[in-house]
Amino acid sequence: MKIDPQLIAAAQCDGDGVPLAGRRGELAALRRAGYVDLSVGRIYEGHVNALQLVGRFGTAAQRETAHDDVAHGRLFGVWNTQDDEPVRIVADGARFGLVGAKSWASGAAFVTRPIVTAAWPDGSLQMCLVPMDAVAPAIDASAWQPHGMHDSQSYLVAFDGITLDAEGLVGGPGDYVRQPWFFGGAIRFTAVQTGGIERLVYETARYLAERGRDGDLVQNMRLGEMRVALRTAQHWLDAGADAWSAYDAAARDPNAHTDAARERAAEDVVETADGARIAIERAALEVIERAMRAVGARGLLEPLPFVRLVRDLEMYLRQPAPDAVIARVGRFAFAAASAQRSAASADDSGSGATRANASDAQASKR
Ligand SMILES: Cc1cc2nc3c(=O)[nH]c(=O)nc-3n(C[C@H](O)[C@H](O)[C@H](O)COP(=O)(O)OP(=O)(O)OC[C@H]3O[C@@H](n4cnc5c(N)ncnc54)[C@H](O)[C@@H]3O)c2cc1C
Repeated sequence: MKIDPQLIAAAQCDGDGVPLAGRRGELAALRRAGYVDLSVGRIYEGHVNALQLVGRFGTAAQRETAHDDVAHGRLFGVWNTQDDEPVRIVADGARFGLVGAKSWASGAAFVTRPIVTAAWPDGSLQMCLVPMDAVAPAIDASAWQPHGMHDSQSYLVAFDGITLDAEGLVGGPGDYVRQPWFFGGAIRFTAVQTGGIERLVYETARYLAERGRDGDLVQNMRLGEMRVALRTAQHWLDAGADAWSAYDAAARDPNAHTDAARERAAEDVVETADGARIAIERAALEVIERAMRAVGARGLLEPLPFVRLVRDLEMYLRQPAPDAVIARVGRFAFAAASAQRSAASADDSGSGATRANASDAQASKR
């Protein structure tokens, strides 16, 4: 798979895993990749994620090697989703053997530097950087007959018999699931999804205009609703970029921040990414429904792009634990309401005290 060199350059990050292009720049690049092709976007998102993980948790030597790998055009990825037999680590002195398989390993046939999560005996997760070109694990593409996202080549990869040395381990146990990066990182795939939404809106408008159907009031209204949904998605991405930028600033400012301020910024990152997931999924589903109505059955014939765009977007909308995400947003809502109630009752008792003081003053005048 060919990825635009400009996008590859935009994936660079600093030693804290913060994108050099800035949070908005990072999301714009992901959105652009998704617009070109959602499978390209999926692969690119994994590449960006892995480089940020190496940036944040890797050693200086690992960061340098990663930089060199990227310069040589090697693609990174993150393979976390488990198969029936999750990947485990069996330590033997200074060597670390892997046992088990990963499903949904996007770019299995061409990503050469995946971060593969593997469980230590106590169940904690370890990031392992597996040099696919050197160790050649067994790749099984036979079950890959997806509804969409075919070109992401998200196959099953078995790691049995592969051993790594300490240089192959990135960070320590549990680093992969640290917050706000783990939940908050979801903003990246919502940016790719937004690129897919944008493409579908563009192709629908083009299809209608080319057939002289753009003057029709109902089609105009449909396009209007699609554009509003697209812009809703974009506003959520902007909110995600702002929340991440605020967190980066709080985490880096040795004077102005307190742990509580940093914690609040981290919570905001998670809540905003969660909200973006829900809102952008809804925006995508609205756009898909309207696009299908707008182009009709004739528009769903290939080689027109709609069948593929819709199938890819429908497939890529399926991301981990959506029910848990909306339930977490619900908990944020309860916490916010409780904080509001506490603030209101503090205000009430404050103004009660003020009223009491005022009547004392009146009494003393009399
Ligand atoms: C094209 C594509 C490429 C991917 N590439 C990668 C990759 O490179 N690396 C990687 O790590 N992953 C990858 N994934 C996997 C992805 O990150 C998710 O893990 C996966 O999409 C979730 O699958 P699912 O919808 O079947 O999940 P499920 O978690 O099974 O969710 C399905 C439904 O069940 C609900 N649910 C979840 N858990 C429970 C429960 N315990 N009890 C009851 N209900 C539950 C969910 O809320 C949801 O409604 C990829 C996915 C896609 C679609």
